[in-house]
Order: sequence, then structure tokens, then C-alpha cells
Amino acid sequence: MVKIKFLGAAQEVGRSAFLVDAGEKILLDYGVKLTPKETEYPLPIDTNVKAAIISHAHMDHSGNLPHLYQRSSPISYMTPPTLDLARMLWFDTLKIAGLEAMDANFSKLEISRTEKHTFPVNYGRRMELFDNTFLEFFDAGHIAGSAISRITFRDGKTLIYTGDIKLDETRLHPGAVLPKGNCDCLIIEGTYGDREHPPRKKEEKRFVESVQETVDNGGTALVSTFAVGRSAEILDVLHEYNVKADIFFDGMCQKAARIYMNYSKYIKDPHFLKKSLDRAHWVKHMSIRKKALKQPCVIVTTSGMLQGGPVYAYLPELYHDKHSKLFLTGFQVQQTAGRILLDTGRINLNGIMVEPKMSVEKYDFSSHAGLSELFKIIETISPQKIVIVHSDREVMARFRVSLEGKGFEVHTPGLGEEIVV
Ligand SMILES: [Zn+2]
Ligand SMILES: [Zn+2]
Repeated sequence: MVKIKFLGAAQEVGRSAFLVDAGEKILLDYGVKLTPKETEYPLPIDTNVKAAIISHAHMDHSGNLPHLYQRSSPISYMTPPTLDLARMLWFDTLKIAGLEAMDANFSKLEISRTEKHTFPVNYGRRMELFDNTFLEFFDAGHIAGSAISRITFRDGKTLIYTGDIKLDETRLHPGAVLPKGNCDCLIIEGTYGDREHPPRKKEEKRFVESVQETVDNGGTALVSTFAVGRSAEILDVLHEYNVKADIFFDGMCQKAARIYMNYSKYIKDPHFLKKSLDRAHWVKHMSIRKKALKQPCVIVTTSGMLQGGPVYAYLPELYHDKHSKLFLTGFQVQQTAGRILLDTGRINLNGIMVEPKMSVEKYDFSSHAGLSELFKIIETISPQKIVIVHSDREVMARFRVSLEGKGFEVHTPGLGEEIVV
């Protein structure tokens, strides 16, 4: 009998962590949830974990992994780009914690212990985790190195965990490769479980036209985006449509882009990406930041949900300029500064809530599957049982109803709940 306990991402987006009990214990993802007030962690683990499987590098899936190595030394499995990207994010966590005099939940020592105990696995390679329990990764199409995990247990049962998944093609990825064969239980993300994305090409055009218009009117187009994946996608779009403006590229996006270029076989068109990256001015010191602020231009920087990052070096200079625009390019988790700005029109700058005069626009360049993609994934995998995770409570409820309408057995576990496969 295989049991799964949901330690996070249970009726919420963030801190993904699922403990699979197959005799030995397997941890699927070990992430954190960042809110403006605090970092939320998954429920504590009170047992020995034999293996940890990390679906991809994003902090809500990998951000707490080094903590696991404070008192134990399981083997972690992830793709090579996931390890490099996650390592970058772990060190960034330490840097931010240092600046804010906070506890990061782990230290450099645990990061190096994590690396030492990580076994890099490429897509399509079947690995034995322990006696007759196997793992295989498939491309999830979400970011470089993102993986769908298929685990087959001793008793013949099969569990598939999508991680974050994108089925349709994007600029950087050709879309997920779905595992074939039997599936007893599918754990699927439901970020967009109640809605469709707008057609990608149309959205790209709308974005590029608004960026160009902003610059032509003498303003700055400030694009705040996720460092890993999305920033490179945005540069590809700006290059593809030949935006006529200087483009500045600032923050951790630069490091992430370098890692992407090291793993060219994990992206669709590395040559095009290289051209897009070469076209941008990489902000390497303050003088280039000042230069960017002196002229109408495009600035691509972090963070995706306005939870910090160099965007706050630009916002105090630009928020009162009605010719400038702030572009948000993805999902805004509840309680984040980005979500609060969209909901209330206000943002906290240097401790004061202000109402920006620059307009704020949101675009959907999501690397998560929309509703019809989710249906396609489920129909192709055809599982006996579906578990929805990584979804806001109301979205999840609607997703559940629509799946039950199609005759599926669906579970939406709460925090700490357990199900049997
Ligand atoms: Zn993700
Ligand atoms: Zn996620």
C-alpha cells in the first residue's frame, strides 16, 4: 500500500511538498511560500526520507531542500539544469536573509551537503530508487529542466506527478512530453484549473505594441518578471517582434540566462535565445542603471510578483511618471506585492503605500497549462485517480467539479491530509 501525505501546496499555490510512503519514504518537492510578511514552510517531516525528487528549480518546489540535510542525508534526484538553477536560488535566499538579518532555514553547509547527495537524472532514464521502486523523468515544458516524475512501486502501482507543467509550445520550450502506460494516481498542478490562457501570439502582440507605444511616448517600459525562464522568454519576444528601443537586462535574470545557455539541449532554439540575450544591455553596475533611467527604454528585471529585486531600484524613480508603464508578466500569488498592486492600485515603496501614476498592465505569458491543456494531459494519461495540488482553493473547487463532470475520481487534499494510492 502506498500513502501520500500533503505537507504543502494543498489548496494553495506555494510550498509544494508531498511525502510518499512506499515502505521507504519519498519526498516529492520541498518548496517554500514567499509572502510579503514571511516565508511559509511545508509541515515538518517527522520521519527518515530515503529519496527526494525535485520537479524543477522554482523556489516553491526546491526552496527548502537544503533544510532537509540539516539532520539527514537522503539522495535527491533532479535534472542537471534544476540543480544549477536551484543552487543559484538557494544562495540568493542566503543573501537576502543576510541583508534582512533573518534566518534562512539553512546555511552554505547544507547547500553543499545537498549538492553532494544529489543524483542528476536526464529525461527518459529509468532509475531504481530502492528495491523495485523506479523513477523516470519526462520533460514538463515549464522551465529548463522541469520534469514530470513517474514512480512505479514494488506492487506494480504507478504514480505520476506533473510538477508545474505546460503542454503547449512556448518560445523556449516545445511543450510537455507525456508518459504513456498505466497510471493509478496522477498528482496534477491546478494553477489555471478554471480558466484558459489568451492565445499566446495575440498576447505577445498586445505586449509588444504596448511596450513600443510606451517608449515612443518618451516613457520607460519596466517589465518585472520571474528570473528563471520568463525573463528569457520576454527577451525572445522583444527580439522576435523587433522592438525599436534599447533593452536593459538587470538582476538575477542574467545568471539564470547564463545557466540556460549552458543547457542548450533543454531549450527549443538556443541560437535565437543567444541573439535575444546579446541584443540587450546587461546591467553590471549602477552606472548602467542610471543610464537606463535617463532615456526612454525597456528594462527587463526581477521579480515576477514584485517581492523584491532590482525592480525596486527603478520604481521609486518611475512610479510618478504617467508616460512610463509597469508590465507584470505572470501569475500573482495571493498576498504578494504584485497581487496587492493589481487589486488595490497601491504599492509599498520605501515603507510608504503609494498610488503609482505610471500605468500597470498584466500580461499572460504563463508557463502553466490552461484548462484545456490540463484536460488534454488528464485524458492522455487517463489515471484511475486524480489529486489536484498547487491551486488556489476556489480555482481548485471549480477544477474538481469540471473533472468530476467527466467521470474522474478527484481528490483535493487539505494541509496534512493523507490519501492512499
Ligand atoms: Zn514553477
Ligand atoms: Zn510552482
